[in-house]
Amino acid sequence: MSRRIVVVGSVNADLRVTVERHPRPGETLLGGDGTVTPGGKGANQALAAARAGGEVTMIGAVGNDPNASAALGLLRESGADLSGIAEVDGPTGVAVVMVADSGENEIVYIPGANATVDAAAVDAHRDLLADAAVVLCQGETPADGIARAQALAGGRFVLNPAPVIALPSEVITAADPLIVNEHEGALVARMLEPDADVEALEQAPRDCVAALREAGCRAVVMTMGSAGALVSQGEGVTAIPAVRVDAVDTTGAGDAFAGSLAARLAEGETLRAACDYAARFAALTVTRSGAQASFPTVDEADGLRR
Ligand code: ADP
Repeated sequence: MSRRIVVVGSVNADLRVTVERHPRPGETLLGGDGTVTPGGKGANQALAAARAGGEVTMIGAVGNDPNASAALGLLRESGADLSGIAEVDGPTGVAVVMVADSGENEIVYIPGANATVDAAAVDAHRDLLADAAVVLCQGETPADGIARAQALAGGRFVLNPAPVIALPSEVITAADPLIVNEHEGALVARMLEPDADVEALEQAPRDCVAALREAGCRAVVMTMGSAGALVSQGEGVTAIPAVRVDAVDTTGAGDAFAGSLAARLAEGETLRAACDYAARFAALTVTRSGAQASFPTVDEADGLRR
């Protein structure tokens, strides 16, 4: 049985600049730091899975521009198989993040090459998907590509619909597990049951998890930041406590959780055990700044296994 995790998702270069305050329309301001770092939820989760000991192949796309190598830098170093990443005409996905002293972010996102990861592009990797222990998707690539990845997944299909995009119900309910935060969970519940009250469900995570299960979801993991996570599979809902840490920067915590969870599931661990591990892995990332830069090293990730 294969242990491979195939991630179908986005690859971005994140351009992060710091400013005292956000500029007004037409205004030019002097910024502080300006750094280009690798990002995209797909690449972030693929890196987390690789650091957590997974054999990872990524399916995605970058453009034919200098941002492509910046976007793939850490993932390439991790030893993940990047043969499923196409190079297409046009730009690599870019997120321009402006961070003001107040801590408030302004973000402009250009999907670029990520928009080409559609059903036809995914179809070209059907053998890889059929053979994978885990196929992992997010919401930053086209819905028809995600649906095709689910249909072709020979093993477990794991979905982190972030951001929440319109997907066929059968794709969502097939996820094992569906990984959502409180906000995403409520939006997905309404997608499955149009009468669902999004605001009420957002305030009541356990009810939201129950609603998702009642709507047909096979298994649900709800992440709740410093409040930990909820897991529901079979009967009932189990709480996974968060590890207590001094949080410095929670960027990438959700991706660290999803990727490391997928890696443990591919090794045959139970969902509960994999969630416990993912909570430890994600907690370490919030003690450092950055997204991929904050992820545990392979040795650190090894040390998190008890
Ligand atoms: P998202 O960014 O997708 O909303 P969360 O903020 O829920 O994701 O974080 C995902 C997981 O990371 C949580 O379930 C938890 O295990 C861990 N985590 C996040 N923030 C903290 C924190 N402040 N302390 C400890 N663990 C955290």
